[in-house]
Amino acid sequence: MQTSILTLLLLLLSTQSSATSGSITDRFIQCLQDRADPSFPITGELYTPGNSSFPTVLQNYIRNLRFNETTTPKPFLIITAEHVSHIQAAVVCGKQNRLLLKTRSGGHDYEGLSYLTNTNQPFFIVDMFNLRSVNVDIEQETAWVQAGATLVRAIFPTLYLGNSRNLVTLLNKDFPELGLQESDCTEMSWVESVLYYTGFPSGTPTTALLSRTPQRLNPFKIKSDYVQNPISKRQFEFIFERMKELENQMLAFNPYGGRMSEISEFAKPFPHRSGNIAKIQYEVNWEDLSDEAENRYLNFTRLMYDYMTPFVSKNPREAFLNYRDLDIGINSHGRNAYTEGMVYGHKYFKETNYKRLVSVKTKVDPDNFFRNEQSIPTLSS
Ligand SMILES: Cc1cc2nc3c(=O)[nH]c(=O)nc-3n(C[C@H](O)[C@H](O)[C@H](O)COP(=O)(O)OP(=O)(O)OC[C@H]3O[C@@H](n4cnc5c(N)ncnc54)[C@H](O)[C@@H]3O)c2cc1C
Repeated sequence: MQTSILTLLLLLLSTQSSATSGSITDRFIQCLQDRADPSFPITGELYTPGNSSFPTVLQNYIRNLRFNETTTPKPFLIITAEHVSHIQAAVVCGKQNRLLLKTRSGGHDYEGLSYLTNTNQPFFIVDMFNLRSVNVDIEQETAWVQAGATLVRAIFPTLYLGNSRNLVTLLNKDFPELGLQESDCTEMSWVESVLYYTGFPSGTPTTALLSRTPQRLNPFKIKSDYVQNPISKRQFEFIFERMKELENQMLAFNPYGGRMSEISEFAKPFPHRSGNIAKIQYEVNWEDLSDEAENRYLNFTRLMYDYMTPFVSKNPREAFLNYRDLDIGINSHGRNAYTEGMVYGHKYFKETNYKRLVSVKTKVDPDNFFRNEQSIPTLSS
């Protein structure tokens, strides 16, 4: 008897909560329809979980399969904005109904923050993929690129812009120990090299680059670091040993310096200027979709990051914002938002820029409507 009363109570509570969330969704959708420009009706751009296209629309721009699980938090609504008034309506109605907004442009956020939240709050996505025009004005030397425009993935670890003969001469002068020969090189046009690095088979027409579907997707984890002192050969040997010990480790070094160092670290939010020799991207990819595999590889990449501590920047250990990494701090946007934000904010922006960003944020978004786990907090939040 006791059990059935409890079951009844739970049933009533869950019915009530779904009715409440249902009415919020209805109210929100009504507000969107009222606010959007009537010449560009928004109704056909709204996807709730009951819509058969909802999973496809959601998954189309999930680039990291770690966040394509049944357990991954899902939005209660996706708005595939076609017109600027759809975005305006989403912001106004989202604020009115105190809902959490996620904006997704290309969906490449390494931690999936454009299409999920780790906060248990109901959220909706404004998906920008339809807004992807590119306008280049040669005379004015300007280019306007809408947020939904994407690039193909292109990483060039061994790309040389020139012919094989020059490259071999150059490398044999400075690095004769490599023994590079012309037969080791493949000559191609730059655009063909984009196809090559994206994984297309040789001979694929360049129009293949217009496809917005990635060649392959898998789960992965990324972290970043900055190198400020030269790493010796012995230290590199230590690093290589650790990489062999932990599976699938990839470390990409991007050289810094040159023009980047001439710009003051306070000129823009990006502070990693003079004094940096290189940025490191740690990347671990895996295929197995099980939780065990995920935990194993996450653990490996964190261990690799620990091993690298002596060779990288300190106080703060700097990090690159584009390589989003929730390991370096999360903000719950409660009473301690400012100090929680300092943890990742100093790494991404350094102290002075973080303070300035907080002051701008407090002025332009005092209610902290635009937020995520690593956004800039307001002073009042
Ligand atoms: C395969 C791959 C390759 C990459 N290569 C590089 C690289 O070579 N160099 C590099 O620097 N980075 C690289 N990145 C990282 C990438 O630059 C960042 O993740 C970047 O933020 C992606 O932009 P997006 O629009 O695709 O991301 P999204 O996931 O759509 O958005 C990223 C963040 O910005 C917010 N956002 C999106 N659109 C808007 C908007 N219109 N207004 C306000 N906020 C918005 C989102 O809510 C989210 O918090 C790569 C990522 C991937 C997955």
